[in-house]
Amino acid sequence: MEDRTFDAIVIGAGFSGLYALHKLRALGLRTRAFEQADGVGGTWLWNRYPGARCDLESIEYSYSFSKEIEQEWNWTELMPAQPEIEAYLNFAADRLDLRRDIRFNTRVAALAFDETTATWCMETDCGERYRAQFVIAATGLLSVPLDPAFPGMETFAGEAVFSNRYPRDGVAFDGRRVALIGTGSSGVQSVPVVARAAQHLYVLQRSAAYTLPSPARVYEPGEFEALKADYVAIRDAQRSARAGAARTSAFAVMAQAEARPPLKTASRAEQLRAIEEYGVQGALFWSDVTHDMEAGDMARRLYGEAVARIVNDPETAASLVPDYPFGCKRPIIDSGYYETFNRDNVTLVDLKKTPIVEIAAQGIRTTQDFLEVDTILYATGFDAMTGALTRIDIRGRDGARLREKWSAEGPASYLGLLVAGFPNLFTLIGPGSPGALANVVSSLEFQVDWVADCIAHLRARGLRTVEANGEAQAAWVDHMNALVEGSVALHPSCNSWWNGANVPGKKRVFTSYASGLPEYRRHCEEATARGYAGFTLS
Ligand code: NAP
Repeated sequence: MEDRTFDAIVIGAGFSGLYALHKLRALGLRTRAFEQADGVGGTWLWNRYPGARCDLESIEYSYSFSKEIEQEWNWTELMPAQPEIEAYLNFAADRLDLRRDIRFNTRVAALAFDETTATWCMETDCGERYRAQFVIAATGLLSVPLDPAFPGMETFAGEAVFSNRYPRDGVAFDGRRVALIGTGSSGVQSVPVVARAAQHLYVLQRSAAYTLPSPARVYEPGEFEALKADYVAIRDAQRSARAGAARTSAFAVMAQAEARPPLKTASRAEQLRAIEEYGVQGALFWSDVTHDMEAGDMARRLYGEAVARIVNDPETAASLVPDYPFGCKRPIIDSGYYETFNRDNVTLVDLKKTPIVEIAAQGIRTTQDFLEVDTILYATGFDAMTGALTRIDIRGRDGARLREKWSAEGPASYLGLLVAGFPNLFTLIGPGSPGALANVVSSLEFQVDWVADCIAHLRARGLRTVEANGEAQAAWVDHMNALVEGSVALHPSCNSWWNGANVPGKKRVFTSYASGLPEYRRHCEEATARGYAGFTLS
């Protein structure tokens, strides 16, 4: 008979779940991880769409806790593509012998806190019940698909696929007429790859993207070996970097811009020189662009000029210019996105001019046209940050439901680690953490270490629960909100997963801590040093 009582349950077997399982096991806790997929990898297992690639360097987007993994694994590319990251996580799972404690193909459906025993009762989608003192929700910030609801979607007779749960065996685009809906990171990365194979590609864009050329490339011979010998210095630099990444990344582009002069005082000649020299990036590369709405609008127009230098058709080029300020959404890194619109087999469909009316058996009807297609690739994003936790029926003290609390009051937590009223339920990379604004691997390693230290602290003192205090949580939420007040990320024109506005009906709240990872760490370490200030241990 399977043992169903554990010290700790970990939900998810992606980057954070794997490390949490390893760390808690090492602490001597009887730990079991539950994963809805049939393998490890989390986001990097599901999002296997064409062109999927990380926008941070592999040397930094990787575990730092294991010197063995650092030395035994060899990255082949500066910015790794999805297959290499998935292989890396499989390697880590094997190297740490984690699989024996992971239950695959099992979705956690419900969690209820039992006050009499101070344990969590967990129910899976098959109705099996488990119990544990601690639950670590390593459920990912971008793990719940957000599907559109176009009339007639279900009647489409061709192949419909989703970037965020892309088929393991791939999709044949060769010779097919393809429609791609959504131009966030996933869509923008897919476009050049699909265009090379498809007979015709229609890119259906609701909002244009700010996207910068990716520096992705294969390592030169000996290059990675040299980096590998320098891991200590690389990790040190990472630790003090605001975004948990000190080398090339989308974050670095924004950080570099802050050190440059303001756009508003730049002469026309300087502006033009910037886009001549740096292309689209030259339009955004100024210190005031993300802080001053007027500068943001100037940058947007300059960006349009840079796009028009690449895209031959003026109407297409104009449609590709965003109508919202840079900094509202996560910057995208692409490989030949704009150039792809010069291909004869690619058509941009501007949904702001001609919205989708319905999806029919043979294709997509817009207000102006009927696009006959064989395949539809949806790249429409995620119910991010909170979606994974609100999909689970979580009931804390007095039966209070997390999803109801977050829906009414906004997604509050203290330090992005625990939610008041939900003891011993640690939320990794969720709201209140550096989430969207830092290297997720750096953030999760810090959080998992903090959780393990906290559990060790409780056990050493014979304590059973740790819980966020309501006042400390409210103060943390106020502090987080103050950091982004007046920023473009909360501007009414900004509809992004960063602020929840991409999900109809979701409260518009910026859920990531905006002062950087070192400052976040300082807050957490300070709370610990002050005897877990802001938490109740009992
Ligand atoms: P996303 O950024 O939320 O983009 C979704 C796209 O779908 C948007 O263009 C959106 O338009 C469109 N869309 C949604 N519903 C639609 C509808 N009903 N009709 C028409 N268009 C619709 O999602 P994502 O591209 O999957 O990326 C999410 C995040 O994942 C990224 O920001 C990034 O953090 C991460 N990611 C990273 C990488 C990387 O490292 N390189 C790659 C992929 C993803 P609107 O903008 O108008 O809503």
